[in-house]
Amino acid sequence: MNEGGNSIRRVNVNIAATDVESYRKLKAAGIGTYILFQETYNREQYLKLHPTGPKSNYEWHTEAMDRAQEGGCDDVGIGVLFGLSGYRYELVGLLMHAEHLEARFGVGPHTISVPRICPAEDISVQDFKDALPDSIFRKLVAVLRVAVPYTGMIISTRESARMREQLLHCGISQISGGSRTSVGGYTTVERHDETAQFDIADTRPLDSVVRWLLENDHIPSFCTACYREGRTGDRFMSLCKSGKIGLCCTPNALMTLKEYLMDYASPETRAAGEALIEKSLADIPLERTREITVRHLKEIEEGARDFRF
Ligand code: SF4
Repeated sequence: MNEGGNSIRRVNVNIAATDVESYRKLKAAGIGTYILFQETYNREQYLKLHPTGPKSNYEWHTEAMDRAQEGGCDDVGIGVLFGLSGYRYELVGLLMHAEHLEARFGVGPHTISVPRICPAEDISVQDFKDALPDSIFRKLVAVLRVAVPYTGMIISTRESARMREQLLHCGISQISGGSRTSVGGYTTVERHDETAQFDIADTRPLDSVVRWLLENDHIPSFCTACYREGRTGDRFMSLCKSGKIGLCCTPNALMTLKEYLMDYASPETRAAGEALIEKSLADIPLERTREITVRHLKEIEEGARDFRF
């Protein structure tokens, strides 16, 4: 898919648990991360929520990531929907899942998502006695960050801007912006929201989210380099655990941010971004890498795209 000379460089897929053959086809189609949330690790609660239908087999659902790995999907993303059951059990379930994947495949989860019960048209938080208060939620994110330091941790627009800001300090590394949760929500014609899967709390457009990150001294990175350079699965894990990946992350973040600033940003966001890029170049430790990055930044300004380390 191409828009204004830019293309979508990575497509992550979130579909129901399936068989090894289907995961193999997804891998062959070139997907990025395969994501599937457990909803709840508490078997009793899970079966109450899914008494019949395709999701009613707890083992089939829980062992999906094993089959995904067997089918070659070596970047997998896990998560639970906090609030369906006691958070202590869910947290330990998540950690044990990560530990199991590492032990069996040498590759822990590429990402962990931490959605929690939020209001939607047919959901009231009051109906869920295990719904998580903010104070516990922040601690839980921090514990996950420390326990699984190599993983990307994702927070969605379900959470408010204030909460997302706090969670960035607790260990969240990936956030969405300008999300739509209804069917066909990203079509150009605005659609009525009656199919929304959950209410969005942070409704700011992407440009505002990017500017907010910049103003808080974070570098919004649009980098997809690892996947495109074949640094997935155990190759990615070893670079990540040793910290060596950082040598690629900063220059790639600056170059992809520059592309965003050139192609999509408002004048205010562009000014904030240019200032942060200038300041952050000093954080690239290797002189040669810094020189190449400066050169590519200039080339991006002149219209070239898609550089990466
Ligand atoms: S180089 Fe860093 S920022 Fe880019 S995809 Fe790899 S880990 Fe992510």
